[in-house]
Amino acid sequence: NKQVVLTEYVTGFPKESHLAVRNGGKIQLKAPQGSVLVKNLYLSCDPYMRGRMSPPKAGGDPNFASFTPGSPIQGFGVGKVVDSGVAEFKSGDFVWGVTSWEEYSIISNTKTLFKITNTEDVPLSYYTGLLGMPGVTAYFGFHDVCAPKKGEYVFVSAASGAVGQLVGQFAKLAGCYVVGSAGSKQKVELLKSKFGFDEAFNYKEENDLDAALKRYFPEGIDIYFENVGGKMLDAVLSNIRVHGRIAVCGMISQYNLEHHEGVHNLAAMIYKRVRMQGFVSFDYFARYWKIAYVEDVAEGLENGPAALVGLFSGRNVGKQVVAVAHE
Ligand code: NDP
Repeated sequence: NKQVVLTEYVTGFPKESHLAVRNGGKIQLKAPQGSVLVKNLYLSCDPYMRGRMSPPKAGGDPNFASFTPGSPIQGFGVGKVVDSGVAEFKSGDFVWGVTSWEEYSIISNTKTLFKITNTEDVPLSYYTGLLGMPGVTAYFGFHDVCAPKKGEYVFVSAASGAVGQLVGQFAKLAGCYVVGSAGSKQKVELLKSKFGFDEAFNYKEENDLDAALKRYFPEGIDIYFENVGGKMLDAVLSNIRVHGRIAVCGMISQYNLEHHEGVHNLAAMIYKRVRMQGFVSFDYFARYWKIAYVEDVAEGLENGPAALVGLFSGRNVGKQVVAVAHE
């Protein structure tokens, strides 16, 4: 069972040598009672994992506990169930959720595992992004925390990444004007040509971020979807409009610094009546996956007419469909 283990705790920028690929030995292809044995297919690379590579901190959030040096690191992934010791999953099922960086994993916390029912229309890897944790982050972070209104001016940093590319598109769908920043010419092009951002710029080519934002937002920013922190946040605070909202999703520019940079323009929040709110995607998981759905399936084409007309006498309970064939 090939594994990726943390070699030692990280301070500063993580290097490849902080991780090692090793052979974890033979595994029993049998799931103990209460667990699921999964063959991992895709593993997700997420910025929060950097925090888990740091030494443990007193009072740290247990959801983001430090990895253990010498053991495989953990994260979101997509896999196929090989053997199951729980009723909700059976061998052959595709799943996504929290797993370990190794070929095969025994997952005992099956609460963080979700079954994938649609294995045909979308690539399985999308469950690490659009249909997984970053998708939840972008959707709820934008709609719930930012409370967008049509015509508002939206700025997204780290805009071409997993979360940012979705936020930009949700902002366009909400009728907003959206500008994104990213760290290369190629990414800036992608923002405009593929994701439909109104404008985009390479923050690495701007000596003065405040001036750059003034160029793209002559009337100021209503909503800032914060992914990077540091100097960008300061520049946004200088350009925020009255009643602006800042959704603090992440601050990737700070994760590898021993001492986080100070923010100087916070006082703008007072006279601009700004609401700045952090959020964690996990808070929304329950809400998202608690959405219940009831279908009323009429078996066989011959039962189709009754199913269709039944809508008008209220015969259906939930969404009526006709199952013509199952394969
Ligand atoms: P991305 O796919 O955006 O990947 C990270 C990107 O961050 C890089 O491609 C890079 O793009 C940019 N970046 C790296 N270092 C810096 C830096 N010093 N300054 C500015 N940009 C930098 O990751 P995600 O979309 O998954 O995550 C984006 C943010 O959202 C992160 O801050 C992450 O921690 C946060 N997040 C928060 C969640 C929550 O629940 N609150 C959940 C998921 C993510 P570039 O070339 O543009 O610099």
